[in-house]
Amino acid sequence: KVRVRFAPSPTGTLHIGGVRTALFNWLYARHHGGAFILRIEDTDLSRSTDESIQEILSAMQWLGLDYDEGPFRQMERQDRYREQVAHLLNADKAYRCFCTPEDLEAKRKAQQAAGENPRYDGTCRQRSDQPTDQPHVIRFKAPKEGTVTVQDILRGNVNFELKEMDDIILQRTDGTPTYNFVVVVDDADMQITHVIRGDDHLSNTPKQALLYDALGVARPQFAHISMILGPDKTRLSKRHGATSTLEYQKQGYLPHALINYLARLGWSHGDQELFTLEEMIKHFALETVTISAAVFNPEKLLWVNEQWIQTSPPEELAKHLEPILVQEGLLAEGHGRSLDEIGRIIPPLQKRAKTLVELAHGSAFYFTDEVEFDEKAKEKFLTAEVKPWFEKLCAGLETMDEPLEHDAVEALFKQVIEEEGIKLKNLAQPVRVALTGQTASPGIYDLFLMLGKERSTKRLRII
Ligand code: GLU
Repeated sequence: KVRVRFAPSPTGTLHIGGVRTALFNWLYARHHGGAFILRIEDTDLSRSTDESIQEILSAMQWLGLDYDEGPFRQMERQDRYREQVAHLLNADKAYRCFCTPEDLEAKRKAQQAAGENPRYDGTCRQRSDQPTDQPHVIRFKAPKEGTVTVQDILRGNVNFELKEMDDIILQRTDGTPTYNFVVVVDDADMQITHVIRGDDHLSNTPKQALLYDALGVARPQFAHISMILGPDKTRLSKRHGATSTLEYQKQGYLPHALINYLARLGWSHGDQELFTLEEMIKHFALETVTISAAVFNPEKLLWVNEQWIQTSPPEELAKHLEPILVQEGLLAEGHGRSLDEIGRIIPPLQKRAKTLVELAHGSAFYFTDEVEFDEKAKEKFLTAEVKPWFEKLCAGLETMDEPLEHDAVEALFKQVIEEEGIKLKNLAQPVRVALTGQTASPGIYDLFLMLGKERSTKRLRII
Protein backbone atom coordinates (compact mmCIF):
# COMPACT_ATOMS: atom_id res chain seq x y z
CA LYS A 1 0.00 0.00 0.00
CA VAL A 2 1.26 3.46 -0.93
CA ARG A 3 2.17 5.64 2.06
CA VAL A 4 3.48 9.13 1.44
CA ARG A 5 4.06 12.16 3.60
CA PHE A 6 4.34 15.90 3.55
CA ALA A 7 6.98 17.02 6.02
CA PRO A 8 7.11 20.79 6.28
CA SER A 9 9.44 22.63 8.64
CA PRO A 10 7.32 25.20 10.49
CA THR A 11 9.76 28.06 10.08
CA GLY A 12 7.65 30.63 8.27
CA THR A 13 4.69 30.86 5.97
CA LEU A 14 3.64 27.88 3.88
CA HIS A 15 5.27 28.64 0.56
CA ILE A 16 3.41 27.69 -2.60
CA GLY A 17 6.40 25.52 -3.56
CA GLY A 18 5.73 23.55 -0.39
CA VAL A 19 2.07 23.28 -1.28
CA ARG A 20 2.98 21.83 -4.65
CA THR A 21 5.08 19.16 -2.91
CA ALA A 22 2.16 18.44 -0.59
CA LEU A 23 -0.20 18.28 -3.56
CA PHE A 24 1.92 15.82 -5.53
CA ASN A 25 2.09 13.57 -2.48
CA TRP A 26 -1.64 13.92 -1.87
CA LEU A 27 -2.50 13.18 -5.50
CA TYR A 28 -0.22 10.18 -5.50
CA ALA A 29 -1.84 8.82 -2.34
CA ARG A 30 -5.36 9.45 -3.60
CA HIS A 31 -4.62 7.96 -7.02
CA HIS A 32 -3.33 4.77 -5.44
CA GLY A 33 -5.84 4.64 -2.61
CA GLY A 34 -2.91 5.04 -0.22
CA ALA A 35 -2.29 7.10 2.90
CA PHE A 36 -1.17 10.72 3.07
CA ILE A 37 0.62 11.63 6.29
CA LEU A 38 1.40 15.07 7.69
CA ARG A 39 4.57 15.39 9.71
CA ILE A 40 5.73 18.65 11.19
CA GLU A 41 9.53 18.79 11.25
CA ASP A 42 10.01 21.03 14.23
CA THR A 43 13.37 19.86 15.59
CA ASP A 44 14.96 23.19 14.76
CA LEU A 45 13.70 24.82 17.93
CA SER A 46 15.19 28.21 17.24
CA ARG A 47 13.29 28.62 13.97
CA SER A 48 10.06 26.65 14.49
CA THR A 49 6.97 28.51 15.65
CA ASP A 50 3.44 27.52 16.64
CA GLU A 51 2.15 30.28 14.45
CA SER A 52 3.75 28.66 11.46
CA ILE A 53 2.25 25.28 12.38
CA GLN A 54 -1.18 26.91 12.56
CA GLU A 55 -0.65 28.49 9.19
CA ILE A 56 0.33 25.18 7.63
CA LEU A 57 -2.78 23.53 9.05
CA SER A 58 -5.14 26.28 7.91
CA ALA A 59 -3.63 26.44 4.45
CA MET A 60 -4.00 22.69 4.03
CA GLN A 61 -7.56 22.84 5.24
CA TRP A 62 -8.37 25.72 2.89
CA LEU A 63 -6.92 23.76 -0.02
CA GLY A 64 -8.72 20.58 0.95
CA LEU A 65 -5.47 18.60 1.27
CA ASP A 66 -6.75 16.25 3.93
CA TYR A 67 -4.37 13.88 5.65
CA ASP A 68 -5.07 10.39 6.85
CA GLU A 69 -2.54 10.40 9.69
CA GLY A 70 -1.04 13.18 11.75
CA PRO A 71 -0.15 15.89 12.20
CA PHE A 72 2.84 14.27 13.91
CA ARG A 73 5.39 16.51 15.54
CA GLN A 74 8.99 15.45 15.68
CA MET A 75 9.46 17.13 19.06
CA GLU A 76 7.08 14.54 20.46
CA ARG A 77 9.23 11.68 19.20
CA GLN A 78 12.48 12.51 20.98
CA ASP A 79 12.56 9.26 22.93
CA ARG A 80 12.32 7.25 19.78
CA TYR A 81 15.25 9.10 18.20
CA ARG A 82 17.39 8.48 21.27
CA GLU A 83 16.44 4.83 21.19
CA GLN A 84 17.57 4.56 17.59
CA VAL A 85 20.82 6.41 18.29
CA ALA A 86 21.50 3.91 21.09
CA HIS A 87 20.70 1.09 18.72
CA LEU A 88 23.23 2.32 16.16
CA LEU A 89 25.88 2.83 18.88
CA ASN A 90 25.38 -0.73 20.12
CA ALA A 91 25.59 -2.10 16.63
CA ASP A 92 28.88 -0.22 16.13
CA LYS A 93 27.30 1.81 13.35
CA ALA A 94 27.72 5.05 15.22
CA TYR A 95 30.34 6.44 17.57
CA ARG A 96 30.85 9.23 20.04
CA CYS A 97 32.97 12.08 18.79
CA PHE A 98 34.74 14.28 21.34
CA CYS A 99 36.40 16.63 18.91
CA THR A 100 35.82 20.21 19.98
CA PRO A 101 34.44 22.84 17.62
CA GLU A 102 37.93 24.39 17.64
CA ASP A 103 39.58 21.09 16.61
CA LEU A 104 37.05 20.68 13.83
CA GLU A 105 37.50 24.20 12.60
CA ALA A 106 41.28 23.78 12.44
CA LYS A 107 40.92 20.49 10.53
CA ARG A 108 38.47 22.03 8.14
CA LYS A 109 40.84 24.89 7.38
CA ALA A 110 43.71 22.49 6.79
CA GLN A 111 41.60 20.39 4.42
CA GLN A 112 40.53 23.43 2.51
CA ALA A 113 44.10 24.64 2.24
CA ALA A 114 45.04 21.24 0.77
CA GLY A 115 42.24 21.63 -1.77
CA GLU A 116 40.12 18.85 -0.27
CA ASN A 117 36.41 18.83 0.45
CA PRO A 118 36.05 19.49 4.17
CA ARG A 119 34.88 16.33 5.86
CA TYR A 120 35.28 14.79 9.30
CA ASP A 121 38.65 13.00 9.35
CA GLY A 122 37.51 10.11 11.51
CA THR A 123 39.71 10.82 14.57
CA CYS A 124 37.14 9.42 17.01
CA ARG A 125 36.01 6.55 14.77
CA GLN A 126 38.42 4.09 16.37
CA ARG A 127 38.65 5.65 19.78
CA SER A 128 38.39 3.03 22.53
CA ASP A 129 37.84 5.12 25.66
CA GLN A 130 34.33 6.58 25.92
CA PRO A 131 34.30 9.30 28.58
CA THR A 132 30.56 9.84 28.25
CA ASP A 133 30.60 12.59 30.86
CA GLN A 134 32.49 14.77 28.41
CA PRO A 135 30.66 16.80 25.78
CA HIS A 136 30.31 14.84 22.58
CA VAL A 137 28.24 14.39 19.49
CA ILE A 138 27.24 11.07 18.00
CA ARG A 139 28.35 10.42 14.47
CA PHE A 140 27.34 7.88 11.91
CA LYS A 141 30.05 5.38 10.96
CA ALA A 142 29.53 5.74 7.24
CA PRO A 143 30.89 3.02 4.94
CA LYS A 144 33.89 4.38 3.04
CA GLU A 145 34.25 2.17 0.02
CA GLY A 146 32.28 1.85 -3.17
CA THR A 147 29.26 3.84 -4.20
CA VAL A 148 25.75 4.37 -2.99
CA THR A 149 23.09 4.43 -5.66
CA VAL A 150 19.92 6.39 -5.11
CA GLN A 151 17.09 5.24 -7.31
CA ASP A 152 14.93 8.16 -8.23
CA ILE A 153 11.68 7.58 -10.07
CA LEU A 154 12.11 10.79 -12.03
CA ARG A 155 15.88 10.88 -12.44
CA GLY A 156 16.89 7.24 -12.67
CA ASN A 157 19.94 6.04 -10.73
CA VAL A 158 22.06 8.71 -9.13
CA ASN A 159 25.45 7.50 -7.87
CA PHE A 160 27.47 8.96 -5.03
CA GLU A 161 31.04 7.96 -4.13
CA LEU A 162 31.23 6.70 -0.57
CA LYS A 163 34.71 8.06 -0.05
CA GLU A 164 33.19 11.51 -0.49
CA MET A 165 30.64 10.89 2.26
CA ASP A 166 30.95 12.38 5.69
CA ASP A 167 30.41 10.73 9.06
CA ILE A 168 27.37 12.87 9.64
CA ILE A 169 26.29 13.92 13.10
CA LEU A 170 23.18 12.07 14.34
CA GLN A 171 22.91 13.71 17.71
CA ARG A 172 24.26 17.08 18.74
CA THR A 173 26.15 17.87 21.95
CA ASP A 174 22.90 19.05 23.55
CA GLY A 175 21.28 15.69 22.85
CA THR A 176 19.01 16.87 20.02
CA PRO A 177 18.93 14.76 16.88
CA THR A 178 19.76 16.10 13.43
CA TYR A 179 17.55 16.48 10.40
CA ASN A 180 18.88 13.67 8.19
CA PHE A 181 18.62 11.20 11.01
CA VAL A 182 15.10 12.00 12.21
CA VAL A 183 13.76 11.98 8.65
CA VAL A 184 14.97 8.43 8.25
CA VAL A 185 13.74 7.24 11.65
CA ASP A 186 10.34 8.76 10.95
CA ASP A 187 10.01 7.60 7.37
CA ALA A 188 10.97 4.11 8.49
CA ASP A 189 8.58 4.08 11.48
CA MET A 190 5.77 5.55 9.43
CA GLN A 191 6.39 2.95 6.73
CA ILE A 192 6.67 5.54 4.01
CA THR A 193 6.84 3.87 0.62
CA HIS A 194 7.54 6.93 -1.55
CA VAL A 195 9.41 10.07 -0.61
CA ILE A 196 8.28 12.80 -2.99
CA ARG A 197 10.05 16.08 -2.23
CA GLY A 198 11.92 19.02 -3.70
CA ASP A 199 15.23 18.40 -5.42
CA ASP A 200 16.89 20.70 -2.89
CA HIS A 201 16.99 17.50 -0.80
CA LEU A 202 18.70 15.37 -3.43
CA SER A 203 22.11 15.86 -1.81
CA ASN A 204 20.71 14.58 1.50
CA THR A 205 19.36 11.42 -0.03
CA PRO A 206 22.60 9.35 -0.17
CA LYS A 207 23.20 10.12 3.52
CA GLN A 208 19.68 9.03 4.31
CA ALA A 209 20.00 5.94 2.12
CA LEU A 210 23.00 4.79 4.17
CA LEU A 211 21.06 5.36 7.38
CA TYR A 212 18.22 3.13 6.17
CA ASP A 213 20.79 0.45 5.44
CA ALA A 214 22.34 0.86 8.88
CA LEU A 215 18.95 0.64 10.59
CA GLY A 216 18.17 -2.47 8.58
CA VAL A 217 15.11 -0.92 6.96
CA ALA A 218 14.32 -1.10 3.25
CA ARG A 219 14.72 2.27 1.56
CA PRO A 220 11.60 3.95 0.23
CA GLN A 221 11.40 5.01 -3.38
CA PHE A 222 12.42 8.56 -4.07
CA ALA A 223 11.06 11.17 -6.44
CA HIS A 224 12.77 14.55 -6.35
CA ILE A 225 10.69 17.17 -8.08
CA SER A 226 12.23 20.33 -9.46
CA MET A 227 11.95 23.61 -7.62
CA ILE A 228 9.57 26.31 -8.75
CA LEU A 229 11.39 29.23 -10.34
CA GLY A 230 10.31 32.80 -10.84
CA PRO A 231 9.91 34.23 -14.36
CA ASP A 232 13.58 35.31 -14.21
CA LYS A 233 14.59 31.66 -13.63
CA THR A 234 15.81 32.19 -10.11
CA ARG A 235 14.25 30.28 -7.25
CA LEU A 236 10.74 31.57 -6.51
CA SER A 237 10.83 34.10 -3.70
CA LYS A 238 9.05 37.14 -2.35
CA ARG A 239 10.69 39.26 -5.04
CA HIS A 240 8.39 37.54 -7.55
CA GLY A 241 5.21 38.46 -5.66
CA ALA A 242 3.22 36.56 -3.11
CA THR A 243 4.65 33.19 -2.12
CA SER A 244 2.59 32.52 0.98
CA THR A 245 -0.36 30.27 0.31
CA LEU A 246 -2.78 32.17 2.50
CA GLU A 247 -1.85 35.36 0.69
CA TYR A 248 -3.52 33.86 -2.38
CA GLN A 249 -6.61 33.21 -0.34
CA LYS A 250 -6.67 36.89 0.65
CA GLN A 251 -6.19 37.96 -2.95
CA GLY A 252 -9.33 36.10 -3.94
CA TYR A 253 -8.05 32.88 -5.45
CA LEU A 254 -10.19 29.79 -5.28
CA PRO A 255 -8.41 26.94 -3.53
CA HIS A 256 -9.22 24.70 -6.45
CA ALA A 257 -7.73 27.16 -8.92
CA LEU A 258 -4.47 27.26 -6.98
CA ILE A 259 -4.42 23.48 -6.80
CA ASN A 260 -5.19 23.16 -10.50
CA TYR A 261 -2.46 25.63 -11.38
CA LEU A 262 0.16 24.06 -9.10
CA ALA A 263 -0.64 20.56 -10.33
CA ARG A 264 0.22 21.64 -13.86
CA LEU A 265 3.52 23.08 -12.71
CA GLY A 266 5.74 20.15 -13.57
CA TRP A 267 3.01 17.64 -14.32
CA SER A 268 0.94 17.32 -17.46
CA HIS A 269 -1.78 15.24 -18.99
CA GLY A 270 -1.71 15.96 -22.70
CA ASP A 271 -2.34 19.65 -23.15
CA GLN A 272 -5.29 19.81 -20.77
CA GLU A 273 -5.09 22.87 -18.51
CA LEU A 274 -8.24 22.71 -16.43
CA PHE A 275 -8.86 19.71 -14.22
CA THR A 276 -11.48 18.83 -11.70
CA LEU A 277 -10.14 17.18 -8.57
CA GLU A 278 -11.42 13.82 -9.77
CA GLU A 279 -9.60 14.24 -13.08
CA MET A 280 -6.36 15.17 -11.35
CA ILE A 281 -6.57 12.17 -9.07
CA LYS A 282 -7.42 9.87 -11.93
CA HIS A 283 -4.61 10.97 -14.22
CA PHE A 284 -1.83 11.84 -11.79
CA ALA A 285 1.28 9.75 -12.23
CA LEU A 286 4.88 10.37 -11.25
CA GLU A 287 5.90 9.14 -14.71
CA THR A 288 4.33 12.27 -16.20
CA VAL A 289 6.12 14.65 -13.84
CA THR A 290 8.99 16.43 -15.56
CA ILE A 291 12.25 17.38 -13.90
CA SER A 292 12.80 20.45 -16.03
CA ALA A 293 12.40 23.64 -14.06
CA ALA A 294 8.85 24.75 -13.42
CA VAL A 295 8.41 28.48 -13.98
CA PHE A 296 5.75 30.25 -11.98
CA ASN A 297 3.48 32.35 -14.15
CA PRO A 298 1.13 34.63 -12.20
CA GLU A 299 -0.90 35.56 -15.31
CA LYS A 300 -1.65 31.96 -15.97
CA LEU A 301 -2.67 31.39 -12.36
CA LEU A 302 -5.04 34.34 -12.70
CA TRP A 303 -6.44 32.88 -15.91
CA VAL A 304 -7.05 29.51 -14.24
CA ASN A 305 -8.77 31.30 -11.37
CA GLU A 306 -10.99 33.21 -13.79
CA GLN A 307 -11.98 29.99 -15.56
CA TRP A 308 -13.01 28.36 -12.29
CA ILE A 309 -14.87 31.43 -11.07
CA GLN A 310 -16.86 31.50 -14.28
CA THR A 311 -17.75 27.83 -14.25
CA SER A 312 -18.09 26.82 -10.60
CA PRO A 313 -21.57 26.33 -9.17
CA PRO A 314 -22.72 29.48 -7.28
CA GLU A 315 -23.26 27.57 -4.05
CA GLU A 316 -19.63 26.44 -4.20
CA LEU A 317 -18.39 29.99 -4.88
CA ALA A 318 -20.58 31.37 -2.08
CA LYS A 319 -18.57 29.41 0.53
CA HIS A 320 -15.36 31.05 -0.61
CA LEU A 321 -16.84 34.46 -1.32
CA GLU A 322 -18.32 34.92 2.14
CA PRO A 323 -14.99 35.36 3.99
CA ILE A 324 -13.81 37.69 1.22
CA LEU A 325 -16.92 39.85 1.62
CA VAL A 326 -16.06 40.15 5.30
CA GLN A 327 -12.38 40.77 4.56
CA GLU A 328 -13.29 43.55 2.12
CA GLY A 329 -15.59 45.17 4.65
CA LEU A 330 -18.70 44.58 2.53
CA LEU A 331 -20.27 42.41 5.18
CA ALA A 332 -19.75 42.71 8.90
CA GLU A 333 -18.48 39.79 10.95
CA GLY A 334 -21.54 37.81 12.06
CA HIS A 335 -23.69 39.35 9.31
CA GLY A 336 -26.25 36.57 9.36
CA ARG A 337 -26.64 36.29 5.58
CA SER A 338 -27.01 32.74 4.41
CA LEU A 339 -24.77 31.13 1.81
CA ASP A 340 -27.98 30.56 -0.15
CA GLU A 341 -28.58 34.26 -0.38
CA ILE A 342 -24.97 34.96 -1.34
CA GLY A 343 -25.16 32.17 -3.90
CA ARG A 344 -28.27 33.66 -5.49
CA ILE A 345 -26.57 36.90 -6.50
CA ILE A 346 -23.46 35.21 -7.91
CA PRO A 347 -24.60 34.04 -11.39
CA PRO A 348 -24.82 37.48 -13.06
CA LEU A 349 -21.52 38.51 -11.44
CA GLN A 350 -19.33 35.48 -11.92
CA LYS A 351 -18.85 35.99 -15.65
CA ARG A 352 -17.14 39.29 -15.00
CA ALA A 353 -14.67 38.51 -12.23
CA LYS A 354 -11.14 37.16 -12.29
CA THR A 355 -10.87 36.91 -8.52
CA LEU A 356 -13.21 36.62 -5.57
CA VAL A 357 -12.11 40.07 -4.50
CA GLU A 358 -13.40 41.45 -7.81
CA LEU A 359 -16.55 39.40 -7.40
CA ALA A 360 -17.01 40.83 -3.91
CA HIS A 361 -16.63 44.39 -5.11
CA GLY A 362 -18.96 43.70 -8.02
CA SER A 363 -21.60 42.70 -5.48
CA ALA A 364 -21.05 45.70 -3.19
CA PHE A 365 -24.22 47.45 -4.43
CA TYR A 366 -26.27 44.50 -3.30
CA PHE A 367 -24.99 44.36 0.26
CA THR A 368 -25.19 48.05 0.97
CA ASP A 369 -28.22 50.17 1.70
CA GLU A 370 -26.32 53.34 0.94
CA VAL A 371 -25.37 53.22 -2.71
CA GLU A 372 -21.88 54.54 -3.21
CA PHE A 373 -21.93 56.72 -6.27
CA ASP A 374 -19.32 57.37 -8.85
CA GLU A 375 -19.90 61.14 -8.60
CA LYS A 376 -19.16 61.90 -12.23
CA ALA A 377 -21.58 59.23 -13.37
CA LYS A 378 -24.23 60.51 -11.01
CA GLU A 379 -23.93 64.01 -12.38
CA LYS A 380 -23.95 62.85 -15.96
CA PHE A 381 -26.77 60.31 -15.85
CA LEU A 382 -29.09 61.13 -12.98
CA THR A 383 -30.58 64.27 -14.53
CA ALA A 384 -34.03 65.78 -14.44
CA GLU A 385 -34.64 64.30 -17.88
CA VAL A 386 -34.66 60.73 -16.60
CA LYS A 387 -37.03 61.35 -13.69
CA PRO A 388 -40.30 60.69 -15.60
CA TRP A 389 -38.81 57.56 -17.16
CA PHE A 390 -37.83 56.25 -13.73
CA GLU A 391 -41.33 57.03 -12.47
CA LYS A 392 -42.82 54.91 -15.22
CA LEU A 393 -40.46 52.07 -14.34
CA CYS A 394 -41.46 52.29 -10.68
CA ALA A 395 -45.14 52.30 -11.54
CA GLY A 396 -44.64 49.23 -13.72
CA LEU A 397 -42.61 47.44 -11.05
CA GLU A 398 -45.30 48.04 -8.45
CA THR A 399 -47.71 45.92 -10.47
CA MET A 400 -45.33 42.95 -10.61
CA ASP A 401 -45.09 39.98 -8.28
CA GLU A 402 -41.99 39.14 -6.29
CA PRO A 403 -39.63 37.54 -7.24
CA LEU A 404 -39.30 39.70 -10.31
CA GLU A 405 -39.00 37.97 -13.65
CA HIS A 406 -36.40 38.78 -16.25
CA ASP A 407 -38.85 38.80 -19.18
CA ALA A 408 -41.35 40.98 -17.36
CA VAL A 409 -38.70 43.57 -16.50
CA GLU A 410 -37.46 43.51 -20.07
CA ALA A 411 -40.98 44.05 -21.40
CA LEU A 412 -41.41 46.99 -19.04
CA PHE A 413 -38.22 48.58 -20.37
CA LYS A 414 -39.43 48.08 -23.95
CA GLN A 415 -42.71 49.73 -23.13
CA VAL A 416 -41.05 52.76 -21.50
CA ILE A 417 -38.57 53.37 -24.31
CA GLU A 418 -41.30 53.10 -26.90
CA GLU A 419 -43.59 55.47 -25.09
CA GLU A 420 -40.79 57.96 -24.51
CA GLY A 421 -39.26 57.56 -27.96
CA ILE A 422 -35.78 56.90 -26.54
CA LYS A 423 -33.13 54.25 -27.03
CA LEU A 424 -32.50 51.43 -24.58
CA LYS A 425 -29.06 52.77 -23.71
CA ASN A 426 -30.54 56.19 -22.85
CA LEU A 427 -32.53 54.49 -20.16
CA ALA A 428 -30.29 51.62 -19.16
CA GLN A 429 -27.20 53.60 -18.20
CA PRO A 430 -29.00 56.01 -15.82
CA VAL A 431 -30.83 53.04 -14.29
CA ARG A 432 -27.54 51.23 -13.82
CA VAL A 433 -26.05 54.24 -12.05
CA ALA A 434 -29.13 54.62 -9.85
CA LEU A 435 -29.14 50.96 -8.82
CA THR A 436 -25.42 50.37 -8.41
CA GLY A 437 -23.75 53.76 -8.27
CA GLN A 438 -21.44 52.63 -11.08
CA THR A 439 -21.37 52.57 -14.87
CA ALA A 440 -20.37 48.91 -15.13
CA SER A 441 -22.43 46.09 -13.67
CA PRO A 442 -24.18 42.86 -14.58
CA GLY A 443 -27.00 42.97 -17.13
CA ILE A 444 -29.57 45.65 -16.41
CA TYR A 445 -32.53 43.27 -15.96
CA ASP A 446 -30.49 41.03 -13.68
CA LEU A 447 -29.95 43.98 -11.37
CA PHE A 448 -33.68 44.18 -10.71
CA LEU A 449 -33.87 40.48 -10.02
CA MET A 450 -30.93 40.70 -7.62
CA LEU A 451 -32.23 43.72 -5.71
CA GLY A 452 -35.92 42.82 -5.74
CA LYS A 453 -38.88 45.10 -6.17
CA GLU A 454 -38.66 47.22 -3.07
CA ARG A 455 -34.96 48.02 -3.13
CA SER A 456 -35.03 48.68 -6.89
CA THR A 457 -37.89 51.16 -6.74
CA LYS A 458 -36.38 52.87 -3.70
CA ARG A 459 -33.14 53.38 -5.60
CA LEU A 460 -34.93 54.70 -8.68
CA ARG A 461 -36.68 57.25 -6.54
CA ILE A 462 -33.48 59.05 -5.52
CA ILE A 463 -34.24 61.72 -8.08
N1 GLU B 1 11.33 19.35 6.39
C1 GLU B 1 11.89 19.37 5.08
C2 GLU B 1 11.56 20.68 4.39
O1 GLU B 1 10.67 21.38 4.80
C3 GLU B 1 11.33 18.26 4.18
C4 GLU B 1 12.06 17.01 4.37
C5 GLU B 1 11.63 15.88 3.49
O2 GLU B 1 10.63 16.01 2.76
O3 GLU B 1 12.27 14.85 3.55
O4 GLU B 1 12.22 21.04 3.44
